[in-house]
Amino acid sequence: MSARPAAPAASAALSAASADPAPGATDGPLPVLGRDVLVPLVTGGEVTYAALDYAASAPALQRVWDDVAAYAPYYGSVHRGAGYLSQLSTDLFENSRAAVARFLGCRDEDQVVFTRSTTDSLNLLASALPHGTRVFVFETEHHASLLPWQQRAGVDVTYLGAPRAPEQAVEALERALAAREPYGPALVCVTGASNVTGELWPVRELAAAAHARGARIVLDAAQLVPHHPVDIGALDVDWVAFSGHKLYAPFGSGVLAGRADWLRDAEPYLAGGGASRTVSRRADGGVDVDWHTTAARHEAGSPNVIGVHAIASACKALTEAGFDALVAREQRLLARLREGLARVPEVKVLSLFGEDAPRVGVISFVVEGWNSSHFAAALSAEYGIGVRDGLFCAHPLVRTLLGGEPEPPGECGAPDAAPGEPSLNAIRVSFGAGTPDEHIDRFADAVQQLVRDGARWSYRTEDGRCVPDRGTTVA
Ligand code: PMP
Repeated sequence: MSARPAAPAASAALSAASADPAPGATDGPLPVLGRDVLVPLVTGGEVTYAALDYAASAPALQRVWDDVAAYAPYYGSVHRGAGYLSQLSTDLFENSRAAVARFLGCRDEDQVVFTRSTTDSLNLLASALPHGTRVFVFETEHHASLLPWQQRAGVDVTYLGAPRAPEQAVEALERALAAREPYGPALVCVTGASNVTGELWPVRELAAAAHARGARIVLDAAQLVPHHPVDIGALDVDWVAFSGHKLYAPFGSGVLAGRADWLRDAEPYLAGGGASRTVSRRADGGVDVDWHTTAARHEAGSPNVIGVHAIASACKALTEAGFDALVAREQRLLARLREGLARVPEVKVLSLFGEDAPRVGVISFVVEGWNSSHFAAALSAEYGIGVRDGLFCAHPLVRTLLGGEPEPPGECGAPDAAPGEPSLNAIRVSFGAGTPDEHIDRFADAVQQLVRDGARWSYRTEDGRCVPDRGTTVA
């Protein structure tokens, strides 16, 4: 990568950087950035940070970072420049599109559109719905897949209640579709794996139910792609949306992949350069635009080539590490984590489909007698463990799971709820391909210790967050 090669050779060098075999396919974690970061403990000393909030954002794979660094000196404008680096960057951008298409098993006629995130991808699809589309969505969805549809004029949204088993989800969808026939265009939106419970949804069955009634289906794969192979053809879904930052590529990009026709027929998501093929002045003083019919139609403006390269790199790294090995390892860690939590009777794991339902490495729970924000703050301050507390941008689902009306958490340090009353928010622990066994064990031990001995520090609420009280000495 040091000499200035001719364009094709430089492209080859960049692909070669990506083609280094990803470490992995063993029972160990894949190397990620931040694995050796030390964080201070409020009780004194330092400890390596245990990142257990992968469901929010996963750390970058070392391999992704290396690929980005290898490309950085060659960074240039995409699709516009005549210069060498522009051509190279354009190649890289389009090759990344092809890599993502391969990763998702896209069909020949599918398009891969690069976006900013899953939220952006689903809003893009919402903006492309034909007038009069009926949308069917479970109220248990993440807000990113729950909310974009009702924002659109001429779109009619049906919200389906929380199913308590995968079969119930399929039956509820079948009933809802049948009850609203006849309809024109229709879309079902469903998540592949819940960001709250980690539970897997019956995507293939829901796709079959949708297609049987002439509806299409989009898969919110934000929490599924980092944990499972997702094959758009095999699942028979029409679109897949996901974010780079949950797929070990935290560089601000996302993907909407799938059927081209609605996207091709829609107004461009953003109007501007890159989306237009030609723009000409009309005699009456107006402007005529001929928009692209390819993915570029919805990618106006200078694209995030680094983010796109990072996503493609992550796709390759996970494929090479082997999903069979990754899934097996994650399930082993999940079993270990669940065993650890099961040793603490005060811990109640949240679940829609039941204790034994298959899930990815995401678990939400409440601890009897504890304010969840207080618990999460103590895990961070006293054990160096990063989890998340709250309602996880899925308020209706968490409301169902907690069996009550969640409200903004009260003063931390105060008990969450009186014994026998529902908790107000939850704690989420989530992990993935970069998580060492030690983090899972430290977490399980910390939960046990906190419940048994209580927090060793006092905490206060500051700007709505629970934080250690600096002035307080260890109890
Ligand atoms: N869907 C699910 C299931 C998610 O977990 C998330 C992120 N928590 C999103 C969509 C939104 O992703 P982003 O914030 O990257 O747009």
